[in-house]
Amino acid sequence: MARRDEIVAFADELLEVETFPEYGRPGLQVVGPEDVSRLACGVSSSRELFERAAAAAAELVLVHHGLFWRNEPLVVDRRLKGRLEALFAGNLTLVAYHLALDAHPELGNNALLADRLGAQREEAFAGIGAGARFAEPITIRELAERLRKATGREPLVFSEGPERIERVAVVTGGGGTRLIEAAHEGYDALVTGEPEEPALHTARELSIHFLAGGHYATETFGVQALAARLVPLQQMSSGFSPAITRRATASSVFSPAITRRATASSVAPIATAIGAPCVLVSLGARDREARQHSLKGH
Ligand SMILES: [Zn+2]
Repeated sequence: MARRDEIVAFADELLEVETFPEYGRPGLQVVGPEDVSRLACGVSSSRELFERAAAAAAELVLVHHGLFWRNEPLVVDRRLKGRLEALFAGNLTLVAYHLALDAHPELGNNALLADRLGAQREEAFAGIGAGARFAEPITIRELAERLRKATGREPLVFSEGPERIERVAVVTGGGGTRLIEAAHEGYDALVTGEPEEPALHTARELSIHFLAGGHYATETFGVQALAARLVPLQQMSSGFSPAITRRATASSVFSPAITRRATASSVAPIATAIGAPCVLVSLGARDREARQHSLKGH
């Protein structure tokens, strides 16, 4: 059992949310019970996710794409009403981390995807992305295969860059607009989630490879890594893939890196207090694909 506010304060501090000006509010979005014994996580807000989190007896849902965006109409329409109804009916707290979770050098979508591609993260790219390097340069075939393995789906590939890929820029989700920037900064390839219409000819004319692995598919990593950081490992249920569990083992709740970033007082209560499993509520493949189209701009 842990206090909701301690979990949120810990995650806010860990992700340094104030460093990322947001168009979705980071942290607490909908308030639920004060005590949390079970946490559920998913990439995107949806009525189905919240219903399934409630069915799994969670008190807190952690997502990458929250409920409220400044670029959406200020109206509680059928969609938002249904989502809020599901949260209230399930007595759930909703906590969301968007750009800060994309950008985090350890737990972020970009760092974790770069890692899965076998590249070493060297620097930030485009604010929230990762600039990374392969110790041994690889071909576009190999990079596409690694992306396919990391995301579990076939990527869209415009093979227009050099034969040997040494430096790769990674911007998960809707990062297709960063292709020109990646080329100008000398990267051999851009790996993102969603393609933009001009990508093919931009890639061709600037001699850079372009790979789009899917918005949802490239953003499943961060929220799971953050959830794993919030819950002691031995208490996680089997909802997590072995890869995530391994990664989390390597950097346990008390890792020096985290302790440096967060104050001792904010780490201890969470690490010792949460006493229930974390469940990963993942939606079916059909829903995932549909969601990729609905998340434009997030
Ligand atoms: Zn996204």
